[in-house]
Amino acid sequence: MSLRDRLLRRLYGWLDRPGRTVPGPFDAPWEGLLDERDPHWRHLDDDERDRMRRLIGSFVASTRWEGARDFEVTDEMRVLVASQACLLLLGLDHDDFGGPARVIVHPSTVVLRGRRSVGVGRVETSAPYRVLGQAHHRGPVLLSWASVRSALRSPGRAQNVVHHEFAHRLDMLDGTVDGTPPLADPGARRRWSEVCTAAYESVRDPDPDPGEPPNVLRPYAGTNPGEFFAVATEVFLARPHELRRQHPELYGELVGYYRQDPATRLADPDPPGAHE
Ligand SMILES: [Zn+2]
Repeated sequence: MSLRDRLLRRLYGWLDRPGRTVPGPFDAPWEGLLDERDPHWRHLDDDERDRMRRLIGSFVASTRWEGARDFEVTDEMRVLVASQACLLLLGLDHDDFGGPARVIVHPSTVVLRGRRSVGVGRVETSAPYRVLGQAHHRGPVLLSWASVRSALRSPGRAQNVVHHEFAHRLDMLDGTVDGTPPLADPGARRRWSEVCTAAYESVRDPDPDPGEPPNVLRPYAGTNPGEFFAVATEVFLARPHELRRQHPELYGELVGYYRQDPATRLADPDPPGAHE
């Protein structure tokens, strides 16, 4: 191999190397911003806040932030997106989503183009379509800022695009989007699959019992196992008591994976006996 080839190979190897997340500062004004705007922040204890400050500092510093079509991404947006994403990492033993993220913030909905198949007959179309976010394996996470803001204002709706897209990123850590993030061993994977399949089928049930309350997992969770895990994560973090009541085994699996128990920090909006 010539010297030129060796140098080129080294250069391409360097360019291809996945980046690393780096520690970053947690600026003092961010504390007030999170107190005021992040509905989860106020429920964290001192140790959890310490970990979150480190995670948020690193996430903000390591992420490549871009605004779609000249949209200006402000410090406030960076911190609030980071705090939502890092809540997923709170109990995990890794500090990122498989390397630094690239986040593209759109002002309102994200308009996607390209061929895709839709509907029961999987008809091909190239019509533009709108989404609130999208995650790519080893690629960018697209977010609608309007949707991020709406989740911060109404956490009880359990529709949080940042939780959703970064749950997809955790699912992708093993290279596949199948609703199963990396788990410790085959026994854990088997249990996870059994429990998630039962809950997934309950969402897809075309004839639910009319006497039962509506499923806390919204219908979109029934799209496929990947979407199931992303929606279950949103509900786990925002409506843990309802999820635990309706799907106790699923709740237990999520506590085991995320190594945090949101029901211990959030008040139950409908405690047992409240109507007696
Ligand atoms: Zn999704």
